[in-house]
Amino acid sequence: MFELTFLGTAASTPLTRRGLPSMVIAHDEYRFMVDCGEGTQRQLLCSGLGFRRLEHILITHPHLDHILGLGGLISTLAQWETSLERVHIYGGKSALDRIEDLLYRIVFRGVRPPLELHLVDVQPGVLLKGEDFDVVAFPVQHRGPDCYGYLFQEHSRRPFLNDKAEALGVPAGPERRQLVAGQPITLADGRVIRPDDVLGELQRGVKLVVTGDVGETKSLVQIMRGADAIVTEGTYNDADVGLARENGHITVGEAARLARDAGAQQLILTHLSGRYRERDLEEEAKRYFPNVVLARDFDTFKIKRD
Ligand SMILES: [Zn+2]
Ligand SMILES: [Zn+2]
Repeated sequence: MFELTFLGTAASTPLTRRGLPSMVIAHDEYRFMVDCGEGTQRQLLCSGLGFRRLEHILITHPHLDHILGLGGLISTLAQWETSLERVHIYGGKSALDRIEDLLYRIVFRGVRPPLELHLVDVQPGVLLKGEDFDVVAFPVQHRGPDCYGYLFQEHSRRPFLNDKAEALGVPAGPERRQLVAGQPITLADGRVIRPDDVLGELQRGVKLVVTGDVGETKSLVQIMRGADAIVTEGTYNDADVGLARENGHITVGEAARLARDAGAQQLILTHLSGRYRERDLEEEAKRYFPNVVLARDFDTFKIKRD
C-alpha cells in the first residue's frame, strides 16, 4: 500500500485554498516527497506529517512552482535537530542545475550545509529499490528537457498461507522464510514441504503513477497501464485545449482519457488553476472516466488493492 498526501494542488501560482505543488508518498518506513513548491514546509506542518524521514525528494521538472519550496524546507531541515542526516534530491539535469543554484548560491552561500545533500541526476529506469517495491523514473513531455514522472510499483508476491502451514506442521521460524524465498524444506519427520504447498496465488503489487506537468498523454499510456491510481495534472478545461498545447499542459478531458486508455482504477487530478469551477472540471473528466477525484490540499489517499 502507498499512502499519498497532497500538500499543494494549485498550478503556477497559489490560491487561497491551494498551495503550490507537492505531495508525500509513504510506504512502510519510507517517505517520498514529489515536488516542493513554495510554502511546502508550512503545508507539511499543517498536514501533521512533519519533517521526519524526509530523505527522498523527487522533482518532476525545473519550473519554479515545483521547486522554490526547497530553499525554505532544506534550510529548516538544516537548522533543526532532526534525526535526518542526509537528503537526496532527485531530478533531471535542468532541475538539478537550478536547485544547485538555489541551495548553494542562496541558502548555503559561503557555508557548508550541516546535513548531507545529494543531488541525484535522474535517468529513465529504476531509481530506487526498496525491499518490496521499486521507484521508476520515466520521461514526460513538458516545456523544456529532462521532465520526469515517477512510478511506484510494489513487487508481486505470493502470500504465505498460515492455515496450510499449520496443518502441515511447518514450524514458525526460518523454515517459513525459506519457503517464502521459494526453497523446499524437510521437516524433522522426513516429509518435504514445497513452496507451492504453503503459498497462495501470485498477487500483483500496487501500482501508483505520479506526474508533474505534462504536455501530451500518448507516450504515457504504456507506463500507466493497469495502474491502481494515476496522479496527473488537470490544468485546463477541454475548451482551452489550444492554451494547453501552447503552454505544454493537458486538459482534464485528456487526463481522463489517458486513465481510461491505460485501464487505471482511479485518477487523481492536481495542479488546478483558479480559473474554472471545480464541479465543471470534474464533470468534464467524468464524461470519459468515472473514478476521478480533484485533489485538495491535505487530502490523503490509501492506494491499495482490494
Ligand atoms: Zn507547474
Ligand atoms: Zn511546469
